Amino acid sequence: MSSLTWLSVEELERDKKLPLFKKTLEIYEAQFKEQATGISYAPGRVEILGNHTDYNGGHVMSVALDVGTAVAFKTQSGTTTHVYSDSFQKFETFEVNTEDRASDPNSKWTDYIKGALREVPEIILNSQGANLAVVTDLPMGSGLSSSASLTISTLIAGLILSDQKSIEPMDLAQRGQHSEVEFVGMPCGLLDQFSSVFGRENHLLYLDCEQLTHDAIPLTHEKVVIVIADSGIRHQLVDGEYAKLKASCERACKELGTLLDKPLRFLRDVSSEEFFRVYDQLDPQDRRRAKHVILENERVLLGKEIASQNTKELGRLMVQSHESSRDDFGNSCRELDLLVEIAQKLPGFLGGKLSGGGFGGSAVFLVNEEESPHFIAGLKDGFESVSTTSVSPYKASIGDCARGYRWA
Ligand code: ADP
Ligand code: MG
Repeated sequence: MSSLTWLSVEELERDKKLPLFKKTLEIYEAQFKEQATGISYAPGRVEILGNHTDYNGGHVMSVALDVGTAVAFKTQSGTTTHVYSDSFQKFETFEVNTEDRASDPNSKWTDYIKGALREVPEIILNSQGANLAVVTDLPMGSGLSSSASLTISTLIAGLILSDQKSIEPMDLAQRGQHSEVEFVGMPCGLLDQFSSVFGRENHLLYLDCEQLTHDAIPLTHEKVVIVIADSGIRHQLVDGEYAKLKASCERACKELGTLLDKPLRFLRDVSSEEFFRVYDQLDPQDRRRAKHVILENERVLLGKEIASQNTKELGRLMVQSHESSRDDFGNSCRELDLLVEIAQKLPGFLGGKLSGGGFGGSAVFLVNEEESPHFIAGLKDGFESVSTTSVSPYKASIGDCARGYRWA
């Protein structure tokens, strides 16, 4: 993928997301009583394989969705930035500067925006103010990475606002990750931001999170679709669980380095053969987490090889990944387990697992297109017959990458 440059208003007219863009521009105009001069967009994602492998320097496989976050914007003469989020129907006002720290928990959502704008040094240098309107068709906090979609979209807005002509896609993804880790305080890897920046219609995405090599694998040889089911359980990953899992992986990596007597930067540098040689000597909880990460990396590498010819095998790897999250890593929950268990008995099922951080959020399924209506109905009925909560599984389309438009 070559460098990302900004598109024109003529291209905007042909964009599949035009309805969302029109809505965003209308909301901007209604709120700020002026017309925006540009719009940015970044999609959400689901993880196909590679659960909690990204911050362990490992391998991931994902798809970008055809839903995401749009930001309409215009430079303002003062130093103040006004932002309106349609999701919260709320305005916030702030200045972007280096002294600013992540805010009080009550207005956490603006941290994603401040954090993203701080990744554009020119905005800070020029103390530049702006108006921004944020509109999304992606559910928040359901494991589809609305946070990365908001961050990347805002970053593109910031780059255009400060008159940057282009950006390298990996640089954009890394700045997005940096802002979530350093400003918002979520110690995430690169999966979400990479998927949003590199998304490609009808393609699986692969990333080596250490080498930063990546690939887009066509998912076209068979008619398969992605089905998403929100478990309804809301995770609060910023609040500590994620950091604990990451710390556990880091301890295991350090311990493995000593036991294997080799320098290890990440768990990705350990083969399963090496791992099981010293398994008994590791801390019981840390070793289960490390086992998940090490075997998950192997699943991604195998999945990458077979994905375009054998979706059945890819699906089987997804089920193994879920079982490993459930039994070893410990980041599943009853609702996600139920969804995956019920799905496996339904027509059209190829594979399924929890997606993203875990402890709730969404489950993702690979399903034969023809049988997908029966699958969706069966999953809803099956889940609701054993649970007190409801579920509304839906077919999701694989969408294109983040992009920005400017016309003034
Ligand atoms: P996920 O990324 O899985 O959706 P996160 O908890 O990481 O869940 O991110 C969700 C948070 O991102 C929201 O609570 C909110 O603070 C912020 N966010 C996402 N989309 C928007 C939006 N359109 N407007 C305002 N804040 C948003
Ligand atoms: Mg997130």
